[in-house]
Amino acid sequence: MVTGLYSHSACLSHDTGEGHPECADRLRVILARLEGEEFLYLDRREAPRATPAQISRVHPGAYVDQVMAAIPARGLNYVDGDTVVSPGSGEAALRAAGAVCAAVDAVMGGELRNAFCAVRPPGHHAEPDQAMGFCLFNNVAIGATHARDRWGIQRVAVVDFDVHHGNGTQAAFESDAGLFYASTHQMPLYPGTGAAGEHGVAGNIVNLPLRPYAGSSEFRAACERSLLPKLEQFAPELLIVSAGFDAHVADPLAQLQLTDQDYYWITEKLLQVASRTAQGRVVSALEGGYDLPALASATAAHVRALMLA
Ligand SMILES: [Zn+2]
Repeated sequence: MVTGLYSHSACLSHDTGEGHPECADRLRVILARLEGEEFLYLDRREAPRATPAQISRVHPGAYVDQVMAAIPARGLNYVDGDTVVSPGSGEAALRAAGAVCAAVDAVMGGELRNAFCAVRPPGHHAEPDQAMGFCLFNNVAIGATHARDRWGIQRVAVVDFDVHHGNGTQAAFESDAGLFYASTHQMPLYPGTGAAGEHGVAGNIVNLPLRPYAGSSEFRAACERSLLPKLEQFAPELLIVSAGFDAHVADPLAQLQLTDQDYYWITEKLLQVASRTAQGRVVSALEGGYDLPALASATAAHVRALMLA
């Protein structure tokens, strides 16, 4: 079995306007990097659209209608202070969420060992009824709830190493003991949630805030001391990764100092837990990452580790 790579050209047509950090070039540099020879054996698949039923497990129908109604026929429209939509954004958002659901199906069904979804817009800031932080639909939460309903499993975990706290995923998961969310993130930083004391209804939320300028040693220590043991204790039957690469030392939006090697390291550690509790089933989805060369190299390190699982 091999690693899958899900993407769709529609994700390039989500236009956020001149100078916006969450730009289509992010996806272009990732896809170009994954054309390299070492990635020859990725199983490349086109992302389908998420269905209304899949999205409705996280977002009320009225919210979905509101997002779609905000998509302009031309030009740009702001759905919050930094979340911009263009004519192609609705299709991109459906493909981004659909990629994670399709990857879940392929991994749960035994067609793929694991998968990476190179998609945008990202999702982890999208709350059930609130678009924010460049995010429209919560791709990983939609994938997690789809996995549980479609495949009859009890426990799904999301691990989020984006530099920002995934407030949307936490909001979707915190009152559901069958869903687990663990996040490393810089604090203080947008969106301001993710304090260590936020535990969820059953200890199913694990927040590991890191101070600005923390680097590899602090990140790895937090993972080894808390994130990885608590993840293993939860014993997920499927692990979904919110793979943001903006904790990289080169990233302009935050001050953590991770390197490509740290992304390889955490991916390997997560795969080891998944091999013990989830038959190795891992689906990863792109979140942030705004320095284009660092985004490409860190994503390559992450996908390399997935392929060597
Ligand atoms: Zn981020």
